[in-house]
Amino acid sequence: MNYQNADLHCHSVVSDGTLSPEDLAQRAKSNGVDLWALTDHDEVGGQERAIKAAQALRLPYLTGTEISVSFAGKTVHIVGLGFDHLHPYLVGGLGATRGGRDARAQEMSSQLEKVGIKGAYEGALKYAGNPHLISRTHFARFLVETGVCSNTSEVFRKYLTNDKPGYVEHKWATLSDAVSWITQAHGVAIIAHPARYGFTPNEEYALFTDFIEHGGKGVEVVTGSHTSEEATRYADVAREFKLCASRGSDFHSPTESRIDLGTLPPLPSDLTPVWSLLEPRVHSNQ
Ligand code: AMP
Ligand code: MN
Ligand code: MN
Ligand code: MN
Repeated sequence: MNYQNADLHCHSVVSDGTLSPEDLAQRAKSNGVDLWALTDHDEVGGQERAIKAAQALRLPYLTGTEISVSFAGKTVHIVGLGFDHLHPYLVGGLGATRGGRDARAQEMSSQLEKVGIKGAYEGALKYAGNPHLISRTHFARFLVETGVCSNTSEVFRKYLTNDKPGYVEHKWATLSDAVSWITQAHGVAIIAHPARYGFTPNEEYALFTDFIEHGGKGVEVVTGSHTSEEATRYADVAREFKLCASRGSDFHSPTESRIDLGTLPPLPSDLTPVWSLLEPRVHSNQ
């Protein structure tokens, strides 16, 4: 099937988005998405709801997640698509990696307290709902709510990134673990928004070669996290490494996200879209 408007990357309230899986399905459908995936961070708890909501709207759906990985001293995101969301190896691996979020959030909160920001853990937890899903985004919302900053980008710039007072380095899953959780659950692993990492050419080469060696198959080329120049560059990288290409808005919220579901430009037509590997995995009632 040749999907014209696939959107294979977004977040719901099950991680750090602000909409429910059902509202996202409706928004995707209204915006003309013809293949959708919900990719909550390190979590598949919204998949059943997303499948049901998509089926009710006759919207073809692929299961998804976005796994945080530590690689060469940085955090890299690996998107998994089309897996069996009940597979115990995947579910167990994600559970273990989420376990570290609570302690990290408490440490972030004590660092923020040292620069005069009180109650950030409780404030962020109110947005996250669950200490195992608490993320920097939830802290950002709390700091906007309390007037410390006027928007979430400003919070990241001033408090939540490398060398800033609320940044806590964290050890996530390994690249090998993340790719094997996804592939053993019959899905396909994809490097998310590669332009975001700031790797040197050598580090980036190592990321792509290690990823492929572990069984990774794709790279996000057209994403809400890339400029059009970055999309052109990673289209070349996809050709060089013979990887499939993916496309996704990385939509989190109507008020915070720059790019809405289903509004990205198409993938370059010579690239092999990642959904060509996943046709039997599409949930569809058509
Ligand atoms: P965490 O997994 O807790 O490290 O949080 C990472 C999340 O923070 C990402 O998935 C984005 O949603 C969000 N994020 C990261 N950097 C920025 C930024 N500069 N501006 C806004 N949101 C960001
Ligand atoms: Mn996020
Ligand atoms: Mn990401
Ligand atoms: Mn994302």
